[in-house]
Amino acid sequence: MAVNYHEEDAIELIHKDNNPITNYNYLSFLPDKCPVCSYSLSPEYLLIYHKNHFTTELLCGCPREVCRSLFFAVYEGTNNPIFSRFYPYSKVEKDFPEEVIELSPDFVEIYSQAYHSEQEGLDMICGVGYRKALEHLIKDFTIQQYPDDADKIEKMPLQQCIQKYIEQSDIKDMAERAVWLGNDETHYVRKWGDKDIKDLKNLIDLTVYYLSMTLKARQYREEMVR
Ligand SMILES: [Zn+2]
Repeated sequence: MAVNYHEEDAIELIHKDNNPITNYNYLSFLPDKCPVCSYSLSPEYLLIYHKNHFTTELLCGCPREVCRSLFFAVYEGTNNPIFSRFYPYSKVEKDFPEEVIELSPDFVEIYSQAYHSEQEGLDMICGVGYRKALEHLIKDFTIQQYPDDADKIEKMPLQQCIQKYIEQSDIKDMAERAVWLGNDETHYVRKWGDKDIKDLKNLIDLTVYYLSMTLKARQYREEMVR
């Protein structure tokens, strides 16, 4: 794409003495947190960079002594640049209960990769990752309960595995719905148009919650026999 763009226009202002710039007020939104340390604060605005005719980047500095990171706020648009994203972005990790980590380390790993891709703004593909994570969680749980059927369970479609092996109705209901939404993420046509990644994650959370409760309860029943 041909861009009308001259290199000498690229940098609007840079202070040689490191003083923050002041001509940033035309930007639609000014960062009020640091994407590296996640603290809410007033960053120093150091430089405006016109990357091309459509993209403007504001270089910011985190004033926290322990962080002091530089990061960019990216704006897109020709006349009124609208805030689009930060980079670099420290990724947030999701915590899972100990018994779930032990049950299915693959679930935790795949979920975390999907979560990272979501935080990178890859929202068209992270759903597929959540769907895959869910499959590992359910199958690892089922195989733990029915180790003799492990081969069969591994090859079975997830929906069928839930139908056949999950007895607890709450787990069954939440896991099934998560699978429905997860399948929506992998198919060309969406069936549950009013539901999105947030709902899929909520349903996975609920499944994790019920599984964790079941595992904990089983542990105490085994440890404390009357
Ligand atoms: Zn910071």
